[in-house]
Amino acid sequence: MTLDEEVAGLLEILRGDHGPVCAWCKSRRHPVKSKGLCGHCNRIRLKFAALEKRAEENGRTSELDYAIRVETAKMERCKLEGRLHTRVAETLASGLDIEHDISYLSKLILGEEMFYGYANWFGHAFTPDQRILLHYFLDELGREYTRQNRLTFAMDDVLDKTIGGDQ
Ligand SMILES: [Zn+2]
Repeated sequence: MTLDEEVAGLLEILRGDHGPVCAWCKSRRHPVKSKGLCGHCNRIRLKFAALEKRAEENGRTSELDYAIRVETAKMERCKLEGRLHTRVAETLASGLDIEHDISYLSKLILGEEMFYGYANWFGHAFTPDQRILLHYFLDELGREYTRQNRLTFAMDDVLDKTIGGDQ
């Protein structure tokens, strides 16, 4: 089997996965549980509902208000992530897509952008199928990273809204 055939075979396996998908984040890698949501999204839904209930019963203190805003930001992030994540394995990926993936991930994890300006190189170095596969794996890594750091990102969102961000 040639390398091209092996890559095409792997893509076929990914595209054939039509298992249940989370209604918010569209993850296929985490089992879908209650309310059509993965465990991560469902925990956020439950926590939000519990906080809202507490606010209704005991009044909305500033601590409670902050907690509700953070949980709202988490929900918004899950849904946005789902909207952005079309079935990556089914769409074409350009050299620029790969550059964005690597720059984004390396900035998040290493604190510096790797391979910035390498879009043309990625476009030439990999075949279209190899780029799709690479984009798929890098996208999954980015999604997992933001999932594991959901609270930090949500707190940043709330802070940005509170102080007006950098607009
Ligand atoms: Zn989810």
